[in-house]
Amino acid sequence: MEFEVIIGLEVHVQLNTRTKMFCSCPTSFAQRQNSNTCPVCLGLPGALPVINEEAVKKAMMFGWAIEATINQKSLFNRKNYFYPDLPKGYQISQFEVPIVEKGHLFIDLEDGSKRKIGITRAHLEEDAGKNIHEGRISKVDLNRAGTPLLEIVSEPDLRSSQEAVQYLKKLHAIVRYLDISDANMQEGSFRCDANVSIRPKGDEELYTRVEIKNLNSFRFIQRAIDYEVERQIEAWEDGSYEEEVIQETRLFDTQKGITRSMRGKEESADYRYFPDPDLPPLIIPQSFFEETKAIPELPDQKRERFIQEYGIRPYDAALIASSREMADFFEEMMAHGITPQNGVTWLTVELAARLNKAGLEIQESPVQSETLAKLIQRIEDKTISNKAAKDVLDYLMEHQVDVDEAIEDLGLKQISDPTAIEGLVDQVLEANQDKVAQYKGGKEKLFGFFVGQVMKASQGKADPKLVNEILRKKLS
Ligand code: ZN
Ligand code: MN
Repeated sequence: MEFEVIIGLEVHVQLNTRTKMFCSCPTSFAQRQNSNTCPVCLGLPGALPVINEEAVKKAMMFGWAIEATINQKSLFNRKNYFYPDLPKGYQISQFEVPIVEKGHLFIDLEDGSKRKIGITRAHLEEDAGKNIHEGRISKVDLNRAGTPLLEIVSEPDLRSSQEAVQYLKKLHAIVRYLDISDANMQEGSFRCDANVSIRPKGDEELYTRVEIKNLNSFRFIQRAIDYEVERQIEAWEDGSYEEEVIQETRLFDTQKGITRSMRGKEESADYRYFPDPDLPPLIIPQSFFEETKAIPELPDQKRERFIQEYGIRPYDAALIASSREMADFFEEMMAHGITPQNGVTWLTVELAARLNKAGLEIQESPVQSETLAKLIQRIEDKTISNKAAKDVLDYLMEHQVDVDEAIEDLGLKQISDPTAIEGLVDQVLEANQDKVAQYKGGKEKLFGFFVGQVMKASQGKADPKLVNEILRKKLS
């Protein structure tokens, strides 16, 4: 039997506002435990929440970016549950009427096609604090309590773990482009829960879905979904689906690569949502509507522009536009008037490989865009060969020097003076008269030998194109 995989994702994005969602405490975490707190985020009785305008603006910007409906009037609700890191005993969230509804984005599939993925809603809420477990003692740190979150819920439109990852990457790029979140996955400012179910192909019904919580890397998300799909299909095939696949929350064990039952899944009724009596409905003024519409260029638009403006391949354009830092780096390079294809190769192949090896992100690159552009200029003006430029780049990764200094230090300046090369060619032909005779007698394969000898004589510095040209002339 063939199965279809149904995946819906919930992503919590921490908004990069200066202050918390309902109080004026700073959102920075570096401080001493429980120092970024006040009566509101400590949940003291009588303290009153005030909505953060910046968080509302950022949620709306996201709404415009996914072509969603923005509700001019939305509501804040209390979501009741008990946990030590939640001092009020409820989380302020949005329920019946979220600020953003009915949007979509496009994911890029491997065959170059696109697929539209629905976004059901995006709502504002506050984060909880953190429990810190130290041996037999557990502590509660409320510095994070009250930090603004945007929870983005997709439609169950995704059909494989690869599609789920593509969706998350696009979402990640969008929030980074909008600069509404740093979206750092390791630090938890972009966290994902995946709802996974299967059904026989052709079936229209939705079967039991399992929620996998707190996935914080693209790789883990893919592995967790793959494992869960496999588990559900096996249960179906051996007749234990009813017992094995129940509506529950599972955790992904990154060591063992399996998902494990954590708790039965709550229904929304379990939370006893009700409108927060301390917060009137959020009504957005018309002027604010217009103000938030001016959003920056988004990944898909940038990719199209790169294809049009620089004539680069769609694949390369998509790769570069997938990260805002990479796109900025590329455009800064292009401002130096280099050939686009060289810019693409030296950024996405040469520099990317070296950064990857060093475990660095593009924004941490020891070689800046201006330096890489200058290196490319030195290839284009024939000061150095393409091959020598790779050595120069290695050197620049380690040394804080100018490109020309690096070329000087390494003694890699290319010989592109035709007279000098002619001299070398003459030497080589003179020293190998027997081979010249064989070549002229029809053994044309020897041409490569002569090129090699001239390159050797120049210690690899002769411009290979010129060597070829001059050799052909002399041997004809
Ligand atoms: Zn506070
Ligand atoms: Mn939530």
